[in-house]
Amino acid sequence: MVQSLKNYIVKTNKKSGNNNLCYCKACFTKLGKNSLKLKTIIDKTERLITHFKNCRNFHDAYDNDEKSKVFALAMKKSNLMEVNTNDSSNQQLLLQRDSVSSRSSLSSLPSQ
Ligand SMILES: [Zn+2]
Repeated sequence: MVQSLKNYIVKTNKKSGNNNLCYCKACFTKLGKNSLKLKTIIDKTERLITHFKNCRNFHDAYDNDEKSKVFALAMKKSNLMEVNTNDSSNQQLLLQRDSVSSRSSLSSLPSQ
C-alpha cells in the first residue's frame, strides 16, 4: 500500500487471509466504529482507491484537490509497475537539418 494513503484509512487488527483489513477513514468518521454499514477494505492500494472512487463519504470529506492527489497516487503506482523494465532507452536524435534557405524574394521592380 502506498504510504500516503495512510491518512485516509483506519487500520484494524482484522485480517482476510494474508491481507490486512482497514476502514475508509471517511466512512469510519461518518458512520462510527460500530456501524454495520462500515465495511472493511483490504489494505491494498487498488482496493482502497476503488473504494474511494465509489465512496460518497470520501467524496464528501475531501475537496477535489485532495481527491485528485489520492487518485494520482494510484496512477503513479500502476505506472511504476509498468515501467519496471530496466533497459536503457537509447535516444536517437535525428538531426535532420532542413536548411530552408530564406530566399530574399526579388521584388520585381517596375522597369522604366
Ligand atoms: Zn468510504
